[in-house]
Amino acid sequence: MNKFLLITLSALAAIQLNAQNAVKGSIEAAPQHASYHPTYSSDGSARKPLNVILMIGDGTGLAQIASGLYANGGDLTYANLKHMGWVTTQSADNFTTDSAASGTAYSTGQKTYNNAVGVDLLKRPIPNIPEIIIDEGFISGVVSTDDLHGATPACFFAHQPHRRMTDEIWADLPASVLKYFAAGSKDVFEQRPEATQKAIGQVFTVVNSLDDPRCATADRLGVLPPKVETGYIVDGRTDFLPKATRQAIDFLNARKEPGKGFFLMVEGARIDKACHSNQYESAVRELLDFDQAIAEAIKFADQDGNTLVVISADHETGGLALWGGDPAKGNMEGVYVSRSHTPIPVPIFSYGPHAQDFMGVQGNEQVAQKILKLFAR
Ligand SMILES: [Zn+2]
Repeated sequence: MNKFLLITLSALAAIQLNAQNAVKGSIEAAPQHASYHPTYSSDGSARKPLNVILMIGDGTGLAQIASGLYANGGDLTYANLKHMGWVTTQSADNFTTDSAASGTAYSTGQKTYNNAVGVDLLKRPIPNIPEIIIDEGFISGVVSTDDLHGATPACFFAHQPHRRMTDEIWADLPASVLKYFAAGSKDVFEQRPEATQKAIGQVFTVVNSLDDPRCATADRLGVLPPKVETGYIVDGRTDFLPKATRQAIDFLNARKEPGKGFFLMVEGARIDKACHSNQYESAVRELLDFDQAIAEAIKFADQDGNTLVVISADHETGGLALWGGDPAKGNMEGVYVSRSHTPIPVPIFSYGPHAQDFMGVQGNEQVAQKILKLFAR
């Protein structure tokens, strides 16, 4: 058969396959929020920031952000930011990454294999940002709507050869340098071996609510709310992510060493999970919630003046495209061609001092390398 005819026929077959597998979804009258309009006073300045907040929208590609933008009437805090670029997400052993390999790239500045949590290709631990910057006097925290052992948050405190080694990941927590964590969940924590629970309790003040009075007095804090409070928005989660983001910022800011600062990783985990199951409305609701967490970080950056906020994703999930919609009514339609991750580059936004460092096209590991350079004194 003619080579070109063969290529054309394979391309047509691929389109046919995708059309058969495409899953449409919609959201009507999305609950809208007002975006935060930054002052831009520190945006793009040349002095080194003292604090860096890295925000990872798990599975958040351009179509996920655009769905949120139009569902929210054309207004998002994301869309008020001026410095942006692309991040390529390939892992060391796969063109399409998983959250563990990409999380490791973001937490250590090194590419590794899919499923690796903070270890290299030979399964040796790689120091993560919190472990590296503590030697310079900087403290760190982690916030996620996933369980704390989920691949993305785990990469910022654990070193294990496989993301499914749940007990081993939790057992790494007492030896970590984290000052603060808030993630799922009380239920998951109580399923861990008693020795692990005890060891964690000796290092961290563990509470089950962001409103526990001990949140204000603890030296090292772990917030593990009941499952429903960190689960999907459509299943009843309320304002956990923006509220925990604000609490983490205030907690770390109050405990940083004089003249030093902090690093905080915030993950909007359920955008990815909703896209895996092709639940468009759920994904859009999660994106809108993540945008409100972004607003908390940008507000603090404006108040503080020495804070850089970097917002990106570990990969895209679902091969999402926009199908139609009516932004005036908060109605949007999307279509998924996959239930997995895709290798398309993801957008990156940045705000504050050195935001300009993250423009252009870069690998996920380079984002971490740039952050580490800013913490080097
Ligand atoms: Zn995923």
